[in-house]
Amino acid sequence: MPGGQAELFPPAERPPVIDGATAPVPGSEGLDLETLRARAAECRACDLYERATQVVFGEGPEDAELVLIGEQPGDKEDLAGHPFVGPAGDVLDRALEEAGIDRSVTYVTNAVKHFKWKPAGKVRLHQKPNAREVAACRPWWEAEIAAIRPSVVCCLGATAAQAVFGSDYRVTRERGTFRELPDGTWATATIHPSAVLRSNDREEAFAGLVADLRLVAERLSGPR
Ligand code: SF4
Repeated sequence: MPGGQAELFPPAERPPVIDGATAPVPGSEGLDLETLRARAAECRACDLYERATQVVFGEGPEDAELVLIGEQPGDKEDLAGHPFVGPAGDVLDRALEEAGIDRSVTYVTNAVKHFKWKPAGKVRLHQKPNAREVAACRPWWEAEIAAIRPSVVCCLGATAAQAVFGSDYRVTRERGTFRELPDGTWATATIHPSAVLRSNDREEAFAGLVADLRLVAERLSGPR
């Protein structure tokens, strides 16, 4: 990370140099979440801020044991300014509860902090962020993890998992397995809660999400 802070993750997918960026990306040691949140609100490191209502930064305690990283805010999150408050958030709440994880002591955030969408009549349709947008936003979630120093990071869905583990990571193949990151944090991945809502068999998809989160709960309660 620029500015002398030790890198949490390998440099293979560092964000590109952003020409003309008008807002600071995190790069100093010791920034707390409040400062990061305020700076992210001014971020212009990619174009997504232009059409989003507002930045949706992560939320949760500064000493959270678990950090959950999703893809990007959805329509409801964009309007509310909070992560995981829409239908996918409801699924996540239920899955965490069934897995025995207290969401109130969990920090939730996204790999990309502004909502990417395209119009479809009166509806704003979710669009997957591209590699450049994910890379541009990387310093923010890296800085969140550096500030929190959780025991476990759990990526929700392919976008977050590939941001953390690399583009060859496949959630279908590796979900529920853990890798130790260079800073000693254990990280894993599972499906995004919205995948449950899109599934032809929601019950089975939800059960799979809960099973993966139970492994996270075990890791949290195990020896450090
Ligand atoms: S999506 Fe991320 S990198 Fe792009 S403007 Fe928003 S906060 Fe900055």
